[in-house]
Amino acid sequence: MRRIALINQKGGVGKTTTAVNLGAALAETGRRVVLFDLDPQANLSIHLGLQPEPGAATTYRVLLGEAGVADAVVPTATEGLFVVPTDIDLSGAELELAGAFGRETILRDAVARWEREHLEAHGEAPADYVLFDCPPSLGLLSVNALAATEEIFLAVQTQFFALQGLSKLLEIVDLVKSRLHPELEITGIVACLYDSRQRLAREVLAEIRKHFPTQVFRSTIQTNVKLAEAPSFGQSILQYAPGSPGARDYRALAREVLAQERPGEPSAGESGAEPTVEVTPAKAIASSAVPPVPPGTPAVDE
Ligand code: ADP
Ligand code: MG
Repeated sequence: MRRIALINQKGGVGKTTTAVNLGAALAETGRRVVLFDLDPQANLSIHLGLQPEPGAATTYRVLLGEAGVADAVVPTATEGLFVVPTDIDLSGAELELAGAFGRETILRDAVARWEREHLEAHGEAPADYVLFDCPPSLGLLSVNALAATEEIFLAVQTQFFALQGLSKLLEIVDLVKSRLHPELEITGIVACLYDSRQRLAREVLAEIRKHFPTQVFRSTIQTNVKLAEAPSFGQSILQYAPGSPGARDYRALAREVLAQERPGEPSAGESGAEPTVEVTPAKAIASSAVPPVPPGTPAVDE
């Protein structure tokens, strides 16, 4: 069972869009995918047309220990794609859990229990992929996601400040690695809302590739209005516009993600991918997070 946190403390960079559509594209290939909505804004749940009924099991209730993951997983209209939905109650969780013992590892423990119980009952893991859609902050919810996974995918928007934000994020990743979870690795970086016609976007992407030569996926997610429209129909891009450039980009990304699987993975009882890549230390990137192009450089080529 591959566990992947989609993270970036910046909002609007494409985390949720990637969780939904990468998840749907993986499910299309026959993988069983569970998406965890960890953002109190519930964008992922809403994107897939899921709003939990009052009293239903949600991410919030899992974190409070009131529900197990198995109770909270709900199916979507896409075969093989499931969601642990959330609602606005989750916005109180960081405060409510602030004094709780072991607060950073509540989600890890809940996911481990879910995996163990399913394995015992059915002889296989409950899912092939679990994707955690993180909120746009590096608070307790994101730390819980990092502690519960072995892999991190960064969603980045190829704009001027992309690298500055990343150095802070890498510090947190290093902290979680050293204090909670030494196996944690960044195994993928997805360039979202990418416009290959813009010189600035190309240069920022080149800069990110320089720092993370092995982690940046070859596939980029181009800006495509169909991806922005799909949530209002409660659908993934593969349902809403299966022939669109957005659907093509997410299918290509899914192929790369599948290619990262180790032989025999995903399978029941796997504890996650071995780190296959070197992570650039936070310090290195922090010291070289210089603007990739001088201010005033025209962003678009003629
Ligand atoms: P995050 O989860 O990082 O805050 P979202 O995935 O919600 O970001 O994306 C922010 C906004 O941009 C949303 O309105 C979404 O529909 C839109 N969006 C995301 N990716 C694309 C894309 N490749 N092309 C067009 N719009 C996109
Ligand atoms: Mg989001």
